[in-house]
Amino acid sequence: MSLQGEKTKSMYARAEKLMPYGINSNFRYWGKEDTLVITRGAGPYIWDADEKKYIDYRLGFGPVILGHGHPAVVRRVQEAITEGTIFAWMTPAEIELAERLTRICKVDKVRLANTGTEACMHALRVARAYTGREKFIKFEGNYHGMNDYFLFSTASSQAKSLGSRRSPIPSVVSSGIPRGLSEYVIVLPFNDFERLEATVRARWGELAAIIVEPLMGNCAGILPRPGYLELMRSLCTEYGIVMIMDEVKTGFRIANGGAQEYFNIQADLVTYAKALGNGFPIAVIAGKEDVMMTIHPGQVAHGGTYTGNVVGTAAALATLDILEEQPVLKDIFRHGKKLMDGMDEILTEAGIPHHMTGLPSIFGFILGTDREPLDFRDYCEGDDSLYERLVFALIHRGVMPDGDGREPWFMCHAHDDAVIDETLNIFNDAVKSIKG
Ligand code: PMP
Repeated sequence: MSLQGEKTKSMYARAEKLMPYGINSNFRYWGKEDTLVITRGAGPYIWDADEKKYIDYRLGFGPVILGHGHPAVVRRVQEAITEGTIFAWMTPAEIELAERLTRICKVDKVRLANTGTEACMHALRVARAYTGREKFIKFEGNYHGMNDYFLFSTASSQAKSLGSRRSPIPSVVSSGIPRGLSEYVIVLPFNDFERLEATVRARWGELAAIIVEPLMGNCAGILPRPGYLELMRSLCTEYGIVMIMDEVKTGFRIANGGAQEYFNIQADLVTYAKALGNGFPIAVIAGKEDVMMTIHPGQVAHGGTYTGNVVGTAAALATLDILEEQPVLKDIFRHGKKLMDGMDEILTEAGIPHHMTGLPSIFGFILGTDREPLDFRDYCEGDDSLYERLVFALIHRGVMPDGDGREPWFMCHAHDDAVIDETLNIFNDAVKSIKG
């Protein structure tokens, strides 16, 4: 049964004539019958063009940490934009945001950007300029945006294309990427201590950076094993490699100071985006004094027409006000844990082998096995088609996680006890329906 009602269907037919596949980001294409058109959101809910209401656990792929259309954030942006939005000069709000970010994230210097893609692209350039080296390590199943350099062995890759664990192959995930770029990337399975150490010890002289999602935010939220990020940190220090932590999904979501605070690890460069703006476009490249000061007008490039623009900056300031003044993430963790525990219990009672992954504000689960997945290859051992059947049963009943189990469930402050209870009731029904 299609997810589209009549109005959605006719809007999608219009869109399909105008945009490739009728969408503005490939990740939003769920096929001709199931691609939705959303007309509004409020708190934990979104409504499609046919007025069907969903409890939203995608939250725009993670940014909406406070809830859709949060009044204080909207008001701050409305007030800020009445006097112009962009001046090709700095604004006082940018200075205030930089002060707050350096304090909350314990970084020396920041530069603003608009998207996670942009922030990660700049971070890699800075790392290369800082070290004078060109290659970098990235982990299978990690995603760092749409920049050509990073589109290898992401969670969109086919497991079969990755080569052996011992000798992984960088697997390109799009046509149109110059063949030569695979020379610059060394891919490794996440959470493999030995492989990481051996690779760095053998190849450090070529390595500008190790870039990592500290928790696999594009692969069900798989957690780092204790000591893994610490090993990465110490190898980077020993060999002068820039450790880039991509906190686009974890920043302002697993702690106000992100994974650096949660796991107590200080990277050399960090990238933030999503939750910082509660849905408005804003991103950050941040880090240690000497690495960040590699950026140099005329010598090492960073910039953009919209970097530091009034809209994103105002949204970030308003979001940070709330994150700092109220126990937002503490509440989200409590509600998220209740949801995770409830789902775990329902799946156990139904006799469906599964393993819950991630942290309560960004979590997932794997079906068809009860073994804890430690990397993307493990994740691929799960039963994807069972997951998809379950998720579609949920969506038809008004609960909206992503259709793909690699994309985590995201929690926001507006998912309160009542919303969690309702979700668990629907989850119970959906599980029964796929068993039947
Ligand atoms: N890094 C990570 C970890 C991400 O999850 C994403 C987007 N999902 C990006 C970078 C790219 O961010 P954007 O879509 O804002 O370009």
